[in-house]
Amino acid sequence: MDWNKIKDSAKDLATKGMEASKDLAEKKLEESKEKKEQKKLEEQELKDRIKQMDKEGIVYCPKCYSNQITANKKGFSLGKAAAGSLIAGGVLLGAVGKNKIEVTCLKCGNKWKAGKK
Ligand SMILES: [Zn+2]
Repeated sequence: MDWNKIKDSAKDLATKGMEASKDLAEKKLEESKEKKEQKKLEEQELKDRIKQMDKEGIVYCPKCYSNQITANKKGFSLGKAAAGSLIAGGVLLGAVGKNKIEVTCLKCGNKWKAGKK
């Protein structure tokens, strides 16, 4: 038995294993970096979208920022014509009176009073 040879090969194996895990770690780091950048990009897009909606006076959900929303006057149904249809730019909100309108987000179900965000 040549113990030195065995020792050497064991060392070799250990080094190789370490290198492999190092590679893996680097790969993971790279992936998380990419994910971070992707997230940053999405956040930037969302910010731009919110800015644009604010500029155009579009009402959007304060929770998920969707503009897929519907409004109901409290204790009063807007009727079949309005039910299910989306409000564009808060025109309807302005017409019926801000304070008593309850807005419901069709995307996440969030409810809030019009004029409050
Ligand atoms: Zn929402």
